[in-house]
Amino acid sequence: MKLLIVEDEIKTGEYLKQGLNEAGFVVDLSHNGLDGHHLAMTERYDLLILDVMLPDVDGWRILQSLREAGKEVPVLFLTARDSIDDRVKGLELGADDYLVKPFVFAELLARVRTLLRRSATPATELSLSVADLALDLARHRASRGGRRIHLTTKEFALLELLVRRQGEVLPRSLIASQVWDMNFDSDTNVIDVAIRRLRGKIDDNYDLKLIQTIRGMGYMIDVPEEQID
Ligand code: CA
Repeated sequence: MKLLIVEDEIKTGEYLKQGLNEAGFVVDLSHNGLDGHHLAMTERYDLLILDVMLPDVDGWRILQSLREAGKEVPVLFLTARDSIDDRVKGLELGADDYLVKPFVFAELLARVRTLLRRSATPATELSLSVADLALDLARHRASRGGRRIHLTTKEFALLELLVRRQGEVLPRSLIASQVWDMNFDSDTNVIDVAIRRLRGKIDDNYDLKLIQTIRGMGYMIDVPEEQID
């Protein structure tokens, strides 16, 4: 899932981004309201975390534009100001939640997950599946045939990417940018190692192998044709 953070305090923004990355989210970070506003209006996000007090376009203005444009993406406001007036204003404008700084990261993460669960479109966004492999996106859990498979956050993010694009060959460079938020040299084996580990958990103990290597191109998840009943 992809989140946008708009926060002009550099350290806070970086800290949030790192924490959310580690929790398995893909995160865009903007340090000013103008860029944040542009990203919020043009890119597709599952959730926005907006600082209220920004030097140029403030969080309220961004939220207002979003709602006027009919965008229903959930918004969590961050603010150092905790007066009742601010909360009321934020909620009236259509903020979904409100967190007062300073806050504990665990609380932010819990609220993010709650908002994502609440906003998920039934059946489509809450879970994904390929054959008997199921992903619970809100809880970050995977299972095959109803049996829980324990994955690290990176492994889950990698699997989610593959499953979201089932049947599509994903080049290593795309996987690197989406899951690791980095550009890797094409000859790096980081992706291959990660895929091998994921296979060990997802495919090794099952007859139906879902993760496929497309030589010279990349990886894909799908039900192999010869195994379709
Ligand atoms: Ca600020």
